[in-house]
Amino acid sequence: MQTFNGKIVCPRCDGNGLVYKSRVVELDLIIYICDECEASWKNEELSLNEFQDLSTFLEDKGLVNMDVQFIDLGYDWKK
Ligand SMILES: [Zn+2]
Repeated sequence: MQTFNGKIVCPRCDGNGLVYKSRVVELDLIIYICDECEASWKNEELSLNEFQDLSTFLEDKGLVNMDVQFIDLGYDWKK
């Protein structure tokens, strides 16, 4: 996994974005989101085969992006 200044580089958009950790309040779920392309992951492996667009992920859960509350847990999540 590539890092930049201790932050995780998004494997999907080729170094344009950094991935931060976030809690979706409505789902009580931790996800990892790219700040550039909005790819999202449910686990910290950030596998290229497993990302979903954030809005698609939320729609699958019956949620609309605009209505969802996120708690930003920051970029410093990789142990
Ligand atoms: Zn990205």
